[in-house]
Amino acid sequence: MPPSNSGFQRLSQAALSRSQFLQLAAGALLPFVGLPPSAAAAKNPELAQNGGAPATKDAAASDRMGAILVSQFGPVKIHSYLSPLDGFHVNTQMIEGPTAVVIFDGQLLLPYADEVASYVRTLGKPVDRIILSHAHTDHWSGLQVLTERFPGARVFALDGVADQLRARGQARLDSFRPTYGDRIATKVTIPTETITEGVHRIDGITYDFKRFVDAESDLQLAAVLPEQKVLMAFDLVFSPTEHVFTVVDHFDHWMIVLEQLKAFQGYDTITIGHDTPVHRSAIDSTIIYIKRAKEIHAASADAKAYSESLKAAFPDRQLASMVDFSAKLLYAAHR
Ligand SMILES: [Zn+2]
Repeated sequence: MPPSNSGFQRLSQAALSRSQFLQLAAGALLPFVGLPPSAAAAKNPELAQNGGAPATKDAAASDRMGAILVSQFGPVKIHSYLSPLDGFHVNTQMIEGPTAVVIFDGQLLLPYADEVASYVRTLGKPVDRIILSHAHTDHWSGLQVLTERFPGARVFALDGVADQLRARGQARLDSFRPTYGDRIATKVTIPTETITEGVHRIDGITYDFKRFVDAESDLQLAAVLPEQKVLMAFDLVFSPTEHVFTVVDHFDHWMIVLEQLKAFQGYDTITIGHDTPVHRSAIDSTIIYIKRAKEIHAASADAKAYSESLKAAFPDRQLASMVDFSAKLLYAAHR
């Protein structure tokens, strides 16, 4: 059960039942095209059980392709935009303080980034800054739209992320172009500001920023919001209901990082890079997955064998199509 003080609840969601979603997920083999725009996020059963204040009607919700969750902590709200499946189910987190909004991550596909921007506008507060959690394309391609729509917002990332984007960003966009055409960014948005580890106060909200290497990506930001008892783990932690993205061979160190997250105190709820927020127990289920993936990787000669074995090992997890995608990158790195 989710912690009683987390209060994450669904404000709006494109209409899609869980069974419909599962059919889509099962049929959504690469390259993620041809899904109807209403292929929004699956409903997290934990969240469905979560009590709290009644859901509020959102005027724009009926047309929105993604899903929005809102959680209120006194004067602070965390708004989570979850993309449809063809956008990798990626989240953009919007932290709304008393006077401003801080945006974390920018979506893969431009139309979804545009929905994020339109939603932020409805909050009626300026965007203080945009923070990029790591250099994977599904988190930054849409920064092109966000920086166009919020030209005053500076883009922050950990030291090293801008270099990664300068080195590999354009090639990543080019690799997505055949699948997504003009829905993917045309240019790489390079962060111009560096975010440092440690405690920061932004618009009266405390963020304890953490820097991790060699996990799901080479370099990953996380943040504890102690007053809200929230860990923003991005792609360090995955939902127990979805496949974990294993795109690089950092299995051992990723498990070490997850043990470190477990040791942190002061949070109950984890917002993650893909899918709806999870409880601390999702760290253990992520470790179990990575441990198994490591074994399968050691025993598999190629991407196809790895992907098939991993899907067989976790038949009930959604986003099976992402396993093929991950396997391709994982094995390409070895050539
Ligand atoms: Zn991701």
